[in-house]
Amino acid sequence: SDHPTGDLLAGLNDRQRAAVTAGGGPILVLAGPGSGKTRVLTRRIAYLINEMNIPARSIMAVTFTNKAAGEMRNRLKSLAGDRMRAVQIGTFHATCARILRIEHDSTPYGKDFVIYDTDDQLNAIGQAMSELNIDTRKFNPRAVLGAISSAKNELILPSGYVGQDYFGEIVSRVYPRYQAILLDSNAMDFDDLLVQMVLALHHSPVLQEKYQRKFAWVLVDEFQDTNTVQYQLVSLFGAPQNNIFVVGDEDQSIYAFRGADYRNVARFRQDYPDASVILLEQNYRSTQVVLDVANAVISRNKHRTPKALFTDKAGGELITLHEAYDDEYEARYVMEEIDDLRRRGYHYSDMAVMYRTNPQSRALERACVDEGIPYTLVGGVGFYKRREIRDMLAYLRVVQNPDDRVSFARIINTPKRGIGKKSLESFQYWAADAEMSYGEALIKLLEGADNPLGARAAKLFRDFAEQLFAWRSLTEASTLVDLFDTISSDVGYNLYLHEISDNDLEAADRMDNLSELRGLLVQADEDEINLPEFLIDQALMTDADTKLTGEDRITLMTLHAAKGLEYPVVFITGLEDGLLPHFRSFDEPDGVEEERRLLYVGITRAMERLYLTYAFKRTTWSGSQAQERSSFLYDIPEDMTAGLPSGLNTDRSYQSYKQMTTWGNTRAAQDTERRNATSGLDRLRRDLQRGSATSNSGNKAVNSKIIPFPGSEPQPPAE
Ligand code: ATP
Ligand code: MG
Repeated sequence: SDHPTGDLLAGLNDRQRAAVTAGGGPILVLAGPGSGKTRVLTRRIAYLINEMNIPARSIMAVTFTNKAAGEMRNRLKSLAGDRMRAVQIGTFHATCARILRIEHDSTPYGKDFVIYDTDDQLNAIGQAMSELNIDTRKFNPRAVLGAISSAKNELILPSGYVGQDYFGEIVSRVYPRYQAILLDSNAMDFDDLLVQMVLALHHSPVLQEKYQRKFAWVLVDEFQDTNTVQYQLVSLFGAPQNNIFVVGDEDQSIYAFRGADYRNVARFRQDYPDASVILLEQNYRSTQVVLDVANAVISRNKHRTPKALFTDKAGGELITLHEAYDDEYEARYVMEEIDDLRRRGYHYSDMAVMYRTNPQSRALERACVDEGIPYTLVGGVGFYKRREIRDMLAYLRVVQNPDDRVSFARIINTPKRGIGKKSLESFQYWAADAEMSYGEALIKLLEGADNPLGARAAKLFRDFAEQLFAWRSLTEASTLVDLFDTISSDVGYNLYLHEISDNDLEAADRMDNLSELRGLLVQADEDEINLPEFLIDQALMTDADTKLTGEDRITLMTLHAAKGLEYPVVFITGLEDGLLPHFRSFDEPDGVEEERRLLYVGITRAMERLYLTYAFKRTTWSGSQAQERSSFLYDIPEDMTAGLPSGLNTDRSYQSYKQMTTWGNTRAAQDTERRNATSGLDRLRRDLQRGSATSNSGNKAVNSKIIPFPGSEPQPPAE
């Protein structure tokens, strides 16, 4: 192309181009799913560098996951070459962690701070509650932690926390204690990364000026899911020039449980009245049918601005609704369809199966194994939750930061070295009394200081301290892998692994995990990443960051993790009341609206084909239960669906009843009876109210195909 910016602006429509090439100042791109927001944001970064000669190092781009950051970096490399290396791309957490490590002097934390994950946090909460004599059976530590986290997301510090009720009063006592434990451990939790960054910027005008000058250009993807503290960060980094470019879609705000507030979009317009607002209206991802279904669902939400979205992909496959007998048949149905689609030309990697809650993956995984379908499970029983991984990471963390109390307590007697609970407690009391950190206490022991530990325990702690300081000296001289191997052999971890495994298979599995971790260390050595950097990287990994291999596999993921992604074929399973919408949302103001947005996000991931499935019966925490199909399904007009119509189907119960009795499954038949007795009337009433029984009648797409039960083949839609 003879146009100098040809490549960068190719494949953009006029509005998109306007957004990419806009000058400085606040800019808000508001647009629905698949309209190219992420594409525009990425191109704009390249444009700033290549065309506006903005130094890459003065650009900060915020993505929602580490994985998205990685993809953006790759994309940028192909657009702007190596020049883009210096762009700061990452999540809010990763970005703040990186800056705080450099600027730790502006915080109460030391250079080698570690990052606590949920398990570590719960440990610290437990410790705080026990110190305060608060019964953890009466007050759920998770709930207390949740309240503290919400407070932090609202920038409420321990001193400013006011409990509104009895539970709140408990929280107001635990919060300061918890925070003190973290500080003593030189540890921040996830929320602290953001809060400490805001505080540091507030307290130090010098620091503030430095970073405002440094990051003169700030860009944020998925802006609708920012919370209060993140919004603060955007304004702080963006000032005073306010070259702030944010893209988002209020309808896709799905992280309220982490304090995200789509009203930040409105707030942005208020705070920056001169902001340019750019609307994108063409969807490049999905067929018209998928968009219509998505729109039918989301338009029921009251608190939203209606948006016009159009696509060139007129028509498209009708979506498929499917009722399965139970969660296992649902999973089997999905895998059979996947098999079928693959034979018709789709790759496994074109297909994703989504669900509302993590435990739903169990039946799906099982079916993948049974049907021989390769899959990647995003999140789930995370690698980083595995005991052996946590143990070895805890060792590395204590090597880096001996003050880390939670990791210290985890490894001090793992594998066993004779330091029991009692000995650890006297060590803890001693350190607390003398106002020493754990690291200082260990040094005192090595120096032979007086202590209340008793001769035997003191010797064991001294032995440990000697080992620990030997490992610490390794961090300077040798590679991370050497350090890992040394620790592992010094403590006899492999032997221990076999001791804690029930059988050889489990032991082999654990060994595999350790090799994987070792591989990460090899990689880090190659990339010249040091221990603190490595530990921060690992701590920032979230459920959505599961490493996707290049292999041809289907993806299993929660709806939350699916944000921003797209697949030719999408299955959304478990469309049942109580699951989607989730029963917990019933108590929250706007809870059901948030659930509807979640379904909307799922639907709009689909490019060509969409399946919505639900089960008549599902195994839940309270056993196997009859389910009501999701009330959201009633919002979908029947002329968009193949398979079971979403409206009233009088035949349905009778036919399934008959089929089930034929197979001798009397238990299931009884369930049907019971369900019809208790809920049939309600459903009838609801259907009549909605009028869905009569609307769209006469449409050919509707057919009364009865779900394939055991033995029966899926049938093509009746003509
Ligand atoms: P979401 O809200 O789901 O995050 P988004 O608005 O960020 O969606 P993108 O992911 O940037 O949308 O784009 C959706 C798809 O459309 C991508 O495959 C992208 O490459 C493609 N796309 C975007 N703009 C255009 C365009 N002008 N021409 C062709 N394809 C485009
Ligand atoms: Mg996007």
